[in-house]
Amino acid sequence: MTERSVDSDLVIVGGGGAGLRAAIAAAEADPGLRIALLSKVVPMRSHTVAAEGGAAGVARADDSLAGHFTDTVAGGDWLCDQDVVERFVAACPEEMVRLEQWGCPWSRQADGRPQVRFFGGMTTQRSWYAADKTGFHLLHTLFQTTLRYPGIERYDEYYCADLLVDDGEACGVLALEIASGEPVRFSAPAVILATGGAGRAYGQNTNAGIVTGEGMAMAYAHGVPLRDMEFVQWHPTTLPGSGILITEGCRGEGGVLTNREGRRYLQDYGLGPPEPWPRPKAMELGPRDWLSQAFWREDQAGRTVPTAQGAAVQLDLRQLGEARILERLPLITDVARRFAGVDPLHAPIPVRPAVHYTMGGIPTDAEGAAPLAGLFAAGECASTGIHGANRLGSNSLAELLVFGRAAGEAAARRAREAGRRRHARAAAQLAEAAARPALAMLRNERGERVAALRDALHATMERHVGIFRNQAGLEQACADLAELRERYRRGVRLDDRSRIYNTEWLSALELGHTLQVAEAMACSARARLESRGAHRRDDAYSERDDERFLVHTLAHARGEAAPALEHAPVTITRAAPQRRAYGAAAEAAGGEGA
Ligand SMILES: Cc1cc2nc3c(=O)[nH]c(=O)nc-3n(C[C@H](O)[C@H](O)[C@H](O)COP(=O)(O)OP(=O)(O)OC[C@H]3O[C@@H](n4cnc5c(N)ncnc54)[C@H](O)[C@@H]3O)c2cc1C
Repeated sequence: MTERSVDSDLVIVGGGGAGLRAAIAAAEADPGLRIALLSKVVPMRSHTVAAEGGAAGVARADDSLAGHFTDTVAGGDWLCDQDVVERFVAACPEEMVRLEQWGCPWSRQADGRPQVRFFGGMTTQRSWYAADKTGFHLLHTLFQTTLRYPGIERYDEYYCADLLVDDGEACGVLALEIASGEPVRFSAPAVILATGGAGRAYGQNTNAGIVTGEGMAMAYAHGVPLRDMEFVQWHPTTLPGSGILITEGCRGEGGVLTNREGRRYLQDYGLGPPEPWPRPKAMELGPRDWLSQAFWREDQAGRTVPTAQGAAVQLDLRQLGEARILERLPLITDVARRFAGVDPLHAPIPVRPAVHYTMGGIPTDAEGAAPLAGLFAAGECASTGIHGANRLGSNSLAELLVFGRAAGEAAARRAREAGRRRHARAAAQLAEAAARPALAMLRNERGERVAALRDALHATMERHVGIFRNQAGLEQACADLAELRERYRRGVRLDDRSRIYNTEWLSALELGHTLQVAEAMACSARARLESRGAHRRDDAYSERDDERFLVHTLAHARGEAAPALEHAPVTITRAAPQRRAYGAAAEAAGGEGA
């Protein structure tokens, strides 16, 4: 059945920022390695291309690694693994310079040095950017750099359907070539998953349609627990209806948020008082979890602005002046004009929160190794421990560089030590069984529509696993998801039964993965009986509870049953847990304020 095969030293699934950075690192570490790089879309269409605002890395003389560390740990509500954060912040600046050397056109100051901007939860200007098209330039830079290495063989538009695991070791993946629908077996002693996040578990989100949580689901199905899946980030400023992102860079440049009464309402949520530019404290530069929660409360209080696509608040850029808006935020200007019918030079942009980022994922150590021999993960699908309960904006692009590189180097070492041949034999046997469910789906005579199941998934996640959660809602979500998974198992019916460029088939396969990840999110949230970071409850557990819950959640798949949950310790090195404070409250407590 799977006659086509590719035997290599390293398989990387994902051609986004993390996958490309890992490929470059592995090829640099050992130019003799044969590296198969698979992606279900051509790499430049990966979601990284849509990143707008910036990538964090200490750059200014008045900044410090300790500052980046403290902001990240406080932003993550003390659920970060501090040993990994220390390593991360130390490695960021070098990665930014590396990108510069590879040709990334960072925005510059008048004297030619790279420019950095404010971002939410960062107490100083630390986010490197290329206007508001940072991800576009970053991904182009990485992509063109991969072309230098003949060892990197690209398999664009190959859909990875399953991981191949032999006797407790990852030994390859089973993919479908999208053009032909033919199964292809990729074998290697090391596999890196760099498949991105899972924002598409929700209806209102900023993510590309391909961000469906697949690497997470594949690892999970093979016994790797998923860590901290209850922590899902809402980005506070997206266009109502479409969820198109309006970058935090807008607020980093001095944009303000006002409610229906024209008031800068964030001062009412422990983020004020307002301070004049250029020394902004928290307010609009508070962390995303707090800003999204503040929106929700304003909406409950009837102080949001109604739009045809739902409630919104107003993001006002006008005080920046035309020249600065056009220089620093050209993409946003274009997006607001085209998709919201608003010219930000002359009117505020209506915005509201939408799902943006998955803090949890495949647990890895600081080298990107997952708890399965031969398996590595990097980028948004991984949980390295640096984001804790809430990621700070611009830490993700930095993460995929730092840990993409680490995973590439570690996987190259593993590939050299383990050798190719034994894994090729094992993978051949496993691939046949792995291809069977996907091929069987094409023959289903009965079953449900993909769209009906997906709509039901979105409805339950939006309603019950939202910005604010409660026990009854989370119980309901877990029950709904168990039922949806059962309906999916009973069968999905496709209109298109051919194998050639069958996007309906791919959507159905993606949905199976997303349902698994969504169940891990809901069940992990149900078990966290406290509020921390992006996991905020409006029931009896509305406070942080360090006594019981200063721990990671690990969700273990149990086939058709709900996941089994356990806790794991958080590594604290030098910052003991404190109450989170921003703005004036942080200053009063002796901190700097965000
Ligand atoms: C609109 C937007 C703006 C953002 N702006 C910023 C920002 O300014 N700063 C910041 O730090 N972060 C930002 N983020 C977050 C950040 O961009 C992402 O977390 C990051 O780019 C993810 O990179 P990645 O390489 O892990 O995954 P992605 O870039 O999502 O790439 C995933 C890759 O995996 C492949 N893949 C997935 N599943 C399969 C499969 N089954 N088979 C084969 N291939 C598969 C895809 O084809 C793709 O190549 C933003 C996110 C969004 C959505």
